[in-house]
Amino acid sequence: MTFELSALPTQRADLIERLKAPHTYDIAIIGGGATGLGVALDAAARGFSVVLVDSHDFAKGTSSRATKLVHGGVRYLAQGNISLVREALHERTRLLANAPHLAQPLPFVMPSYKFWEAPFYGVGLKMYDALAGKAGLGATEFLSRAETLRDLPTVREKGLKGGVKYWDGQFDDARLALALARSAARAGALLVNYCAATGLIHEAGKVVGLQLTDQESGQALTVRAKCVVNAAGVWVDQLRVLDGQAIGHEARPMVAPSQGVHIVVDRGFLPTDHALLVPKTADGRVLFAVPWLGKTILGTTDTPRNDLAREPMAFREELDFILGEAGRYLSRAPAPADIRSIWVGLRPLVKPPDDDGDRTQALSREHTVLVSKSGLVTVTGGKWTTYRAMAEDVLDNCFARNLLPQRPGGVTASLLLVGAQSSGHRISDAPGLHLYGSDAARVLALPGSDRELGGGLTEAMVRFAARYEYARTVEDVLARRSRLLFLDAALAKSLAGAVAGLLEEEGQAAPRLADFLTLADQYLTLPS
Ligand SMILES: Cc1cc2nc3c(=O)[nH]c(=O)nc-3n(C[C@H](O)[C@H](O)[C@H](O)COP(=O)(O)OP(=O)(O)OC[C@H]3O[C@@H](n4cnc5c(N)ncnc54)[C@H](O)[C@@H]3O)c2cc1C
Repeated sequence: MTFELSALPTQRADLIERLKAPHTYDIAIIGGGATGLGVALDAAARGFSVVLVDSHDFAKGTSSRATKLVHGGVRYLAQGNISLVREALHERTRLLANAPHLAQPLPFVMPSYKFWEAPFYGVGLKMYDALAGKAGLGATEFLSRAETLRDLPTVREKGLKGGVKYWDGQFDDARLALALARSAARAGALLVNYCAATGLIHEAGKVVGLQLTDQESGQALTVRAKCVVNAAGVWVDQLRVLDGQAIGHEARPMVAPSQGVHIVVDRGFLPTDHALLVPKTADGRVLFAVPWLGKTILGTTDTPRNDLAREPMAFREELDFILGEAGRYLSRAPAPADIRSIWVGLRPLVKPPDDDGDRTQALSREHTVLVSKSGLVTVTGGKWTTYRAMAEDVLDNCFARNLLPQRPGGVTASLLLVGAQSSGHRISDAPGLHLYGSDAARVLALPGSDRELGGGLTEAMVRFAARYEYARTVEDVLARRSRLLFLDAALAKSLAGAVAGLLEEEGQAAPRLADFLTLADQYLTLPS
């Protein structure tokens, strides 16, 4: 399938007009993170009519807060979950091929300080290679002490025996989400951010549409659809409860949120294009140090929490863990004053299926698809890497329940995403025009392409974000079109006023500058 490659404008007034037009869509999707956007693209590419709404910005939830790894999941291999790892390894290859400007191979090195570590982990990683087969990115290698220091120049030298190098991938998660949104739009889908699903419409016990609230104007809207997909991440239960109330059937919560914290420090702490993996920290956890967009990401944690905050705060213990373990493995230990940004994401961990009468169908233990008695299709769990396979699973469930007429799958397996074009740059390089892939020329043609605001962000990029990438607020630009909030919150704060001015010039009357300044402070605040 081929699509017109020119960039589609994303003027909000036009999107809202289209949303208001009476129409029964084949599929309406709640949630514009990796999961919902993946379903939107797959369904639109199969020729279904698609509408997707997000209450906030696309990827404002978990999908902009990942460790940025496109991976098979070495950890799942240790748990013996072979089919899951194989699926993820194959999806890894597809993602790298379909969005080469945003996702690329990355070598990982595990340093070893005990004589048994390298052979022990090396054998597991050789299995990882074998499972990848032709989808492999490079062979696992045993490294001498000198080779380990070549690849990880600042790793702690004392007691270092050698290491093991293996290959996975890395990506820019929020920009990939936007590429998915724009690719779905290119295939005919209507996507609207800042538009919340506030209710479900039921008729004769079946869900037939959504009640929506335009978060900018406060206006109430409705859309009708043959099939409604709830891809609201950790927030899926809120919709499931509404669905249960409407049909007199209590829906028990399926998500147990767990938070993951990352901190970002300067690249000087790990000046290399290799990631560092500690498979077992002092208390048995995993720690990554990943070169990303000119900085180094350290993380992550896995802490249960009961609330569903949009911007959760890190706990002190999590910060101490990351800084403490990084300090054990790096020659220069990062201190709190070195932190450029702290960000927190919520994992939608799925509880074991309950007995509330919902039908559970899961391709893998990683993600879950539930179809309620009313026909509400809920999908959650899984990981970014497997978003495409998850979307196929969702559509298979829609077909199995006769919510949609069956159409052949596999259409996204080699579908290039908007912008797909290699530039020769690495994801670990400082941000710049190369992240726009084949859209770079379009950005360059806009006013201000030679005026850099800072951190690789030009005036033209802000205009491009407003015109073609659904950006509405200063946060949309500085957190997800550019990633400066995640990379260096103080720098992002210093550019916020200029970004607000440009968004106003582009016709956005309320770019919410004050909200962004408060948020940037949170990304700089150390937990007490
Ligand atoms: C710390 C951490 C690290 C991770 N690292 C990796 C990694 O390196 N690699 C990897 O492959 N995976 C990783 N993952 C997993 C991956 O990030 C998630 O699986 C994925 O982002 C989940 O996407 P989602 O679309 O289901 O949820 P979300 O991204 O949270 O999207 C849900 C969306 O629904 C919207 N929404 C909610 N309620 C409503 C409503 N009523 N109306 C409209 N919209 C609504 C929200 O605004 C949100 O945008 C990580 C996860 C965490 C937490």
